[in-house]
Amino acid sequence: MNVHEYQGKEILRKYGVATPRGIACFSVDEAVKAAEELGGKVWVVKAQIHAGGRGKGGGVKVAKSIDEVRQYATQILGMTLVTIQTGTEGRLVKRLLVEEGADIKKELYVGMVVDRATQRVTLMCSSEGGMDIEHVAEATPEKIFKMGIDPATGLTDAQGDEMSRKIGVPEVAVPQARGFMQSLYKAFDETDCSLAEINPLIYTGDNKVLALDAKLNFDSNALYRHPEIVAMRDLDEEDPAEIEASKFDLAYISLDGDIGCLVNGAGLAMATMDVIKLYGGSPANFLDVGGGATTEKVTEAFKIMLKNPHLKAILVNIFGGIMKCDVIANGVIAAAREVKLSVPLVVRMKGTNEELGRQILKDSGLPIISANNMAEAAERVVAAAKEHAAKGTK
Ligand code: ADP
Ligand code: MG
Repeated sequence: MNVHEYQGKEILRKYGVATPRGIACFSVDEAVKAAEELGGKVWVVKAQIHAGGRGKGGGVKVAKSIDEVRQYATQILGMTLVTIQTGTEGRLVKRLLVEEGADIKKELYVGMVVDRATQRVTLMCSSEGGMDIEHVAEATPEKIFKMGIDPATGLTDAQGDEMSRKIGVPEVAVPQARGFMQSLYKAFDETDCSLAEINPLIYTGDNKVLALDAKLNFDSNALYRHPEIVAMRDLDEEDPAEIEASKFDLAYISLDGDIGCLVNGAGLAMATMDVIKLYGGSPANFLDVGGGATTEKVTEAFKIMLKNPHLKAILVNIFGGIMKCDVIANGVIAAAREVKLSVPLVVRMKGTNEELGRQILKDSGLPIISANNMAEAAERVVAAAKEHAAKGTK
């Protein structure tokens, strides 16, 4: 789960991570009031969306007067912000963060991720922070330093000092930078983050170390331990199809292809997407209906897939183990009747009661294309999608 920058900073502050003072706003008037309340001479008006690259996309502006705060807030609030992370459709800005302007002497980078290979949290730092870190990672990876953190000790003083010096923190600010990294690690550990990224981390003209940006991701399997973080969820930032699917306990991820997939089991779902690709097609979604899919669940899954305007065909790929193929066949038929199937449907079923399942599909009179194995299923669904697309353009 993701949160907004202002929420991430709120969490981090509780752990002693230094950030500029700021106030979240939902209207232009609130933004002006926030700037007045913060005081000072320079403010930064920042779009709050769950995507990075806001600065380059025009979603972060430095204001030198209250009038400019009003002007930028008006400009940014309600804009469709397009960044390298939003895709071309962009994201509607509904919230702002008005923050005190910091006197940036140098922008650095500090990140933490769970590293599955070492089974530890890895600290990653660079002297080249700011809006071009992706370029640094690609062109000069030697400028990014990495260090594993032992869960038994946490980030040690020696590690914090070493890393701070490697990225060029001035000597007077090294203790502060070390403390910053240690607080960040504590926050990461205690809130069950999967990723924390501070880009930029800065030191100011008077050598203060501050987080100017904050991106936190939380492990969804641990959210039951953190109701205060769940309360920060912003459904406007999530895919409507995925929200709908989660209501029915369906594991669904939207993708940008045109072949809908309804599968039981995550492994089979991955293999199904692979084989569709192998035959020249492109999956519209990942969907695992789980082991105990009912007719209702299958119907909801069809409804969600059919809402996608790019959908050209659906492939149902079921392995009947505990789940019997006849139950799935009945579910598919009930769903197809209820939602008025508008695209070709290919079904491949294997396992318990497969003969019976196939017979049920045949007897339904619905134009269902049957397949005997994965390869045949993929080949047929890719061909059906192409045919359907060609019909649509005539
Ligand atoms: P993004 O990563 O989405 O572009 P950031 O929060 O990193 O957004 O902001 C982009 C840039 O704007 C930063 O690299 C920094 O130079 C500047 N900036 C952000 N917040 C402040 C602030 N409070 N004071 C001064 N400059 C800021
Ligand atoms: Mg940033």
